[in-house]
Amino acid sequence: MSARDDQQLIERSAAVARDVAQQERERSDAAIASVVLDRLELGTTDTFEVHDPATGRVIATPADHSIDDALVALARADAAGRAWARTTARQRSDVLHRAYGLIIEQKDRLARVITREMGKPLAEAYGEVQYAADYVRWYAEEALRPAGNYRENPAGGSTILTTRAPIGTTLLITPWNFPMAMATRKIAPAIAVGCGAVVKPAALTPLTTLVVAEIFVEAGVPAELVQVVTTTDASGFSKALMADARVRKVSFTGSTGVGSVLLGQAAKHVIKSSMELGGNAPLLVFDDADLERAVEGAVVAKLRNGGQSCVAANRILVQSGIADAFVEGFTERMRQAVLGNGLAEGVTLGPVIDDRAVSSFSRLVDDAVAKGADLRTGGAAPEGDGHFFEATVLDRVPDDAEIANTEIFGPVAAIARFESEHEAIERANSTPFGLASYVFSQDIDRALNIADQLDAGMVGINQGIVSNVAAPFGGVKASGLGREGSGEGLEEYQEIRFYNLGRR
Ligand code: NAD
Repeated sequence: MSARDDQQLIERSAAVARDVAQQERERSDAAIASVVLDRLELGTTDTFEVHDPATGRVIATPADHSIDDALVALARADAAGRAWARTTARQRSDVLHRAYGLIIEQKDRLARVITREMGKPLAEAYGEVQYAADYVRWYAEEALRPAGNYRENPAGGSTILTTRAPIGTTLLITPWNFPMAMATRKIAPAIAVGCGAVVKPAALTPLTTLVVAEIFVEAGVPAELVQVVTTTDASGFSKALMADARVRKVSFTGSTGVGSVLLGQAAKHVIKSSMELGGNAPLLVFDDADLERAVEGAVVAKLRNGGQSCVAANRILVQSGIADAFVEGFTERMRQAVLGNGLAEGVTLGPVIDDRAVSSFSRLVDDAVAKGADLRTGGAAPEGDGHFFEATVLDRVPDDAEIANTEIFGPVAAIARFESEHEAIERANSTPFGLASYVFSQDIDRALNIADQLDAGMVGINQGIVSNVAAPFGGVKASGLGREGSGEGLEEYQEIRFYNLGRR
């Protein structure tokens, strides 16, 4: 090929790339334009701005609901819930199955809304849509298997029959990092058992939840059963609703600080509470780990969702014998992350949620380096629009660095080294948190023995992912109360009732 042919080829592929980008922009604009910005339809005129973290531009202005609006939403969900509780399990299951089908049919729209409001690369947004849909399908199936029990009174004279009843009206508060999965993980079990719900998404990412609610209604969920309240007054909202005795259950995913406030508020009316709170996951790599698996697992556990995940590997602790090779391989893989707008082809690391996050990563990196950490790659926030931070690796992070003692929530990896198993366990357990942890060792007995000693609700063994609809997701210590997903997640929305059947 001549130089001219080469040049033509380059120009043609650049033109194709421009066309693809233009089409993608149009499709994502159409997805955003399709969102109904006020599902309560109470005539609210106040609005707030939702921004695209990749550009900083305003993409939508949903209704900013007042406390009075929220109380109307509660009254509606409460009334609709009473009727819904009398439907059969089969009816509720059928509706959820239809919702699953509609979500899959509308996955292109949903994925684009997620990427535009939250920033994650489109491929990951598709992953979240499937993960979120899987909760809906799982609870469509679980709805049909209501747990119950009976046993004879050991003293005779009666039979003890145990059933589970819907708990009543639920308050569901979700964070911005998985706007769809965190919503369906709560809404689907509530619907499955027969509860009404008031849902409050994070003000940074309310749009996905609005689409999810629309889909549930299209699937046959009564319009008033699931009420989405979009508001910037999160604390006023929870104060008013948690003080209302109609709320019988609160399920919250977010920071430990807010979770503690809600638990305090729950005390007044003794509201059953599920709290999925902050994490500080240790990822332990032992000398006998399969190096490639450990590197891949650590990259997934660090970079999934741009590191903005409560189960993200927060402290990567590596045994000294394998540490140099691990750091080499891990740094190489982190360098391969392609940073950019999540809508663009080939991007694997999107923007972070806001400027506050960018400043916090810069501060953590500077502090760690000042205290002696070795910056292996990244460390900077590129100039320009949007909120971006490079995939970053810090090695030999000292214990007194701030990054070693805080939830990072971004694409910055902090590596420290250890000598013995005992030291690894001590360090892993040395925080107030206990959500996820990860262990890499080819000796399965060793891995399990160590896993048993970790303060954690979930342990990934030789893999960097713990999330699964069939597994009970949740933490210990300051990471929370209760579980979501699996059969345990359904029970969070039920009361146990027992009937003492007298026998002669
Ligand atoms: P956040 O606590 O700031 O916000 C979570 C939700 O609570 C949002 O809807 C927010 O509007 C609302 N909120 C804020 N203040 C409130 C108040 N005073 N009363 C009632 N609601 C209030 O958390 P975030 O920044 O959105 O999310 C990040 C945090 O969430 C991290 O700590 C992360 O680890 C945690 N998280 C935990 C899980 C889990 O399953 N354990 C999953 C995702 C995120």
